[in-house]
Amino acid sequence: MSSEKAKLDWQNLTFSYRKTDFNIRYYYKKGKWSKGELTQDENLNLHMAAPCLHYGQECFEGMKAFETKNGKIVVFRPEENWKRLQKTSERISIPPMPQKMFVDAVKKVVAANKKFVPPYGTGASLYMRPLVIGTGARVGLGPADEYTFLIFVTPVGPYYKGGIHPVKALIATEFDRAAPDGVGDCKVGGNYAAGLAAARFGYDKGYPVVLHLDPKEKRFIDEFSTSNFIGIKGNSYVTPKSKSILPSITNESLSIIAKDLGMKVERRPIDVAELPEFSEIGAVGTAAVVTPVTTIHYKGKNLKFGSEKEAGPVITKLYNTLTGIQYGDIKDKHKWLVEVK
Ligand SMILES: *Cc1c(COP(=O)(O)O)cnc(C)c1O
Repeated sequence: MSSEKAKLDWQNLTFSYRKTDFNIRYYYKKGKWSKGELTQDENLNLHMAAPCLHYGQECFEGMKAFETKNGKIVVFRPEENWKRLQKTSERISIPPMPQKMFVDAVKKVVAANKKFVPPYGTGASLYMRPLVIGTGARVGLGPADEYTFLIFVTPVGPYYKGGIHPVKALIATEFDRAAPDGVGDCKVGGNYAAGLAAARFGYDKGYPVVLHLDPKEKRFIDEFSTSNFIGIKGNSYVTPKSKSILPSITNESLSIIAKDLGMKVERRPIDVAELPEFSEIGAVGTAAVVTPVTTIHYKGKNLKFGSEKEAGPVITKLYNTLTGIQYGDIKDKHKWLVEVK
């Protein structure tokens, strides 16, 4: 049965930082990762010449833990986050870590903060933010000698209260999120810093979400600033194939669900000219799962997709199935959940 919970207004959590009891930290020195240490300290003691600060040698992950219907605590596909973190680490010259170290870290930090895992039925979850930073003093360009890997957790509400709400997006051709052979397919903080101007540009024009085109030809759909693009066309689930998009674990999971539902999954370049042929468009990622996008502004025109008031039938079905698996309402037939004891 579920353990004693923190006294929080679970129904009204937002997507923001809230202090919990512990975070977990590992230090890399002289070629070796230390054992994990749980700490209550929310601050880092960092040398001002640390490469993460001036050369952006930093990468992160985003994942969630849930309380299921029968009171278990589970994490969604942590091995996939480990795999992606390794790929990103390699690209920015951060030393690798064993899968067991990462998954143990996840389990330990969740177990230490059990009372902050939102109760089943609230639609909330425990968000986890693993990150790796290059530390130690270094001025010349080169990878750091030392690293810190940490995971902090924070309880978050469903991204959209009272169900999934459609949003409007803008295609901003003025700003690229990534370069053709750059780090668009890696979860590095620098991609987000580079995207802030585009986000501001869209926001000021009334579009809370920005959709990026491929940086080489500005002709094919890449992804939204913080989430992947999916389009529904007839019985097909269509998602872009591109070197400069972040491989979303939510997208991959939803595409498997789409197949299970008898849909055809197409991963291929999507010409921006094809947009009007989609009946539903979604922005997909861990935080919101699927956000229906009902308007896309491109070259002075507003393209419309479905109802402005509610999500379309396919996106609703995909959302309900994935969240149903996460909360233990639907059988986890692909073994995506890892239990935390
Ligand atoms: C993290 C992220 C996503 C979503 O990935 P998930 O694994 O589904 O959370 C999509 N796009 C970008 C740019 C991201 O950083």
